[in-house]
Amino acid sequence: MTKILDGKACAANMRSQLQAKIDAQLADGKRRPGLAVILVGEDPASAIYVRNKHRACEKAGIKSMQYLLPSDATESQLIDLIDTLNEDPEIDGMIIQLPLPAGMDVVKIQERVRSDKDVDGFCAEQAGLLFRNRPCLESCTPKGIISLLDANGIEIEGQHAVVVGRSDIVGKPLSILLLNRGATVSICHSKTPDLAAITRQADILCVATGKRHLISAEHIKPGAVVVDVGIHRDDSGKLAGDVNYEDVVDLCSWITPVPGGVGPMTIASLLENTWLAYCDHLGINEA
Ligand code: NAD
Repeated sequence: MTKILDGKACAANMRSQLQAKIDAQLADGKRRPGLAVILVGEDPASAIYVRNKHRACEKAGIKSMQYLLPSDATESQLIDLIDTLNEDPEIDGMIIQLPLPAGMDVVKIQERVRSDKDVDGFCAEQAGLLFRNRPCLESCTPKGIISLLDANGIEIEGQHAVVVGRSDIVGKPLSILLLNRGATVSICHSKTPDLAAITRQADILCVATGKRHLISAEHIKPGAVVVDVGIHRDDSGKLAGDVNYEDVVDLCSWITPVPGGVGPMTIASLLENTWLAYCDHLGINEA
């Protein structure tokens, strides 16, 4: 019978472990870890993501500070804010909620975040460390997926993992993490001919395309582990993923639901990265 990769429960467990570690530091007279979240504009979905991150921080004992800029803020105003937060000793991690207003240079802005505070793991230095399989602040969604597989005892080494999507924030770093863990990795994308011929070889299939219900039964090898990163909301407010859940669920050994799969794990990884940055800043030896 198919088993559910319950990201919500796994994230809650990670949060309470983190809270215990933070409480121990507070008892030792240390300050709380601090996360700065910058939101530019009034995109409603972004506002929900920011609120969810704020609540998760509060539950884990991380001080979350929100910085809201109007949608007509200039790139230089945003850069000035990032520079100020880079120098703020109370702030261990900083994220800039995407998407940014049209016309802003997203890569330039992300690179402005000091690498030791880049808890999204987007900057070239963190990405380079990941590439070299060195300790780093790993990109949150891929890191959360690996944690979810590990928490459920799913073997990665020696498995054929197929990643559909090659974005800088999900597909590419996820492929590298899986490779670093000893999987044989195939990466598919929008130019891949006969996608199903490749996905049907996957022991572990991870899908991050932003295309609702792209993956159906014809794409699945029986017994595969299926991880769905996509999130889509229809007109009635119902959420769905890049995988047609109903169509594939009986074929898989494990599958992530949408919602309640990868989403909560992304936030849990953000908290973990903030903790790692805090340990780095305070000289705490976190093995
Ligand atoms: P993106 O648009 O940057 O990249 C999409 C990738 O999918 C591209 O590499 C493209 O080549 C590939 N692709 C598109 N159409 C394809 C097709 N028909 N066949 C094969 N490959 C195809 O997207 P992203 O930022 O990686 O996000 C992907 C999805 O994941 C989105 O729905 C996004 O909302 C969601 N997301 C969820 C979380 C989470 O925490 N759950 C985090 C990040 C992104």
